Amino acid sequence: MTSNLTMASSPEPHFEEEKNQSYVKAYRSEFDVPDDKLVEAIEYLGRLPGGIVANRDHRKLNQAVEHIDNLRSRPIAVPGTPGVLKEYSYDELYIILVERNHYPMKDFEKLMKKFEDRFGYLPSPPEFVEFYEEKKDELEKEVKETNEALLESQVMLQGNQIALEQIQQALEQERRERQALKQEMQQALEQERQRGQSLEQELQRMREREEDQLEEEVRYMIKRVVCKVCFEKEVEVLFLPCYHLVSCQGCKEQLAQKKCPLCRAAYQGTIRVYFA
Ligand SMILES: [Zn+2]
Ligand SMILES: [Zn+2]
Repeated sequence: MTSNLTMASSPEPHFEEEKNQSYVKAYRSEFDVPDDKLVEAIEYLGRLPGGIVANRDHRKLNQAVEHIDNLRSRPIAVPGTPGVLKEYSYDELYIILVERNHYPMKDFEKLMKKFEDRFGYLPSPPEFVEFYEEKKDELEKEVKETNEALLESQVMLQGNQIALEQIQQALEQERRERQALKQEMQQALEQERQRGQSLEQELQRMREREEDQLEEEVRYMIKRVVCKVCFEKEVEVLFLPCYHLVSCQGCKEQLAQKKCPLCRAAYQGTIRVYFA
């Protein structure tokens, strides 16, 4: 938004000195311009950033002459002293170029900056139009490059998206495989557990059967070794000749008749037996 007609700190250019400089000579060999116009243009260059020392360039001199012509023919009236040059302000240029002549806002902003960077002042409207024609391709190229970069990053994003989806799919696949493996292992464990349980039951049944048998045997043994008369003491007496091992010594002595208590046959003798 600044006008670049800043006062330079370097000394005012003297026309007599400047006209011997090569840039003035080069300009004069190309164009036929009256001295007063040239003086004005050189003074203008002297007021640009860096002063005359930084602006001794025959293209700049040419540009300054044309710029001053453009300012003189500006359609907007200049308040103030007649004959004094007034630059177009940024706001004026915005109204003329963007609002009235419909140059795109973005192009306007970019070109104003580019112009100021190159020349040290803001353009007049005709200079802007000329500059726009010159820079149109460059602007389009910039837009195109921006779009291409955008497209490229979009493609990259899509690539990333695809990679992400692939990773997610792989993860999902692995998750399903683990799940299946877990189920398989659980089933195997369950089968093993059931097998263990039936083994346990079988073992239990075997134990119970053994215990029953043992009990039976014990009962059988007890029945055999207990005296069949008193059912208290061990059998001790073997009757002859029937060979029945039936009673204890006490019960034998108390028998009323000399008969075997089991078969009731008269015994002829007895033998005392002892269990080892
Ligand atoms: Zn007895
Ligand atoms: Zn007997």
